[in-house]
Amino acid sequence: MKHYDVMVIGGGPAGLSAAIYAARSGVSVAVAEELVAGGVMAATPVIENYPGYKSIFGYELAQKMEEQAVSSGACIIYSRALKITDGEIKKVTLSDGSTYDCFAVVIAAGNSPRKLGVKGENELLGAGLSYCATCDGNFFRGKTVIVAGAGKHALSACEYLQDIVKEVITVNPYKTPITALIGNPLDSVEIDEGGVKRVIKCDGLFVELGYEPSSILTKDFVKTDGAGYVVCDERMQTDRNGIFAAGDIVSKPLRQIATAVSDGAIAGQFAAVYAKKRANR
Ligand SMILES: Cc1cc2nc3c(=O)[nH]c(=O)nc-3n(C[C@H](O)[C@H](O)[C@H](O)COP(=O)(O)OP(=O)(O)OC[C@H]3O[C@@H](n4cnc5c(N)ncnc54)[C@H](O)[C@@H]3O)c2cc1C
Repeated sequence: MKHYDVMVIGGGPAGLSAAIYAARSGVSVAVAEELVAGGVMAATPVIENYPGYKSIFGYELAQKMEEQAVSSGACIIYSRALKITDGEIKKVTLSDGSTYDCFAVVIAAGNSPRKLGVKGENELLGAGLSYCATCDGNFFRGKTVIVAGAGKHALSACEYLQDIVKEVITVNPYKTPITALIGNPLDSVEIDEGGVKRVIKCDGLFVELGYEPSSILTKDFVKTDGAGYVVCDERMQTDRNGIFAAGDIVSKPLRQIATAVSDGAIAGQFAAVYAKKRANR
């Protein structure tokens, strides 16, 4: 069985930042990533709010973080983590059939937006459709947008957008289902008002139905809040010794790349401290 001092699960900004900090502390580190290094960031067309870059393609920032993690000494294993087994020596089981021993684990598996479930939704991401008003609101400055949602996510999206865009139209898709997304880039949506179809013109659509944490590894394993997000202390450690978490999977008020890399830095640093103690180094 192969050993790394620290195993990081998820190669998004939080996981890559954790890997950089842990590797630079002198411990051996592997990142298990099931899809593509960079996480959601890699699929975000343009990022305009990450300090240091006025504007950068998401894939470009993802590539830079990945290169920095690898050049710091971290190894990236492209496989899905299926299970973490706790103990003095922890084990991480991957979908390729391998199991790794480690002293500390950083869970940085992110979360995913709840979708409308309407045909064409995936293709329109970045072409008029967004799941994040804070991230993409500025692209619709002076334009007309629809916010689809109900509850606190939709409310805070509307509050954020009202000072930026010309008009915010709200649609509660639980009461008034969105039945079609029209145009590519999106130029209107069709809604069903009690059996009557109506088309609303718009420049953009923000789907604000909230997010779901990637809870496959954390549910019933570490302490979570009411919504399933992982609860951490100031060192980003969970209620289990040596099990840390970082990024969007963590219970916190702002989920952005800047906050993900901050969490990752803290988690990576203290996971390395924990691993060194366990290894008597
Ligand atoms: C559409 C959209 C646009 C956004 N735009 C911006 C923006 O402009 N600026 C900004 O600051 N923020 C933006 N955000 C938010 C930002 O992308 C996230 O806050 C950030 O990516 C969180 O990083 P993370 O590493 O915690 O999670 P993620 O980026 O989600 O990365 C998690 C990684 O873990 C992997 N993974 C999950 N489960 C497993 C497993 N079991 N085994 C192995 N790997 C696993 C995933 O494949 C993924 O690569 C945007 C979000 C969305 C949805």
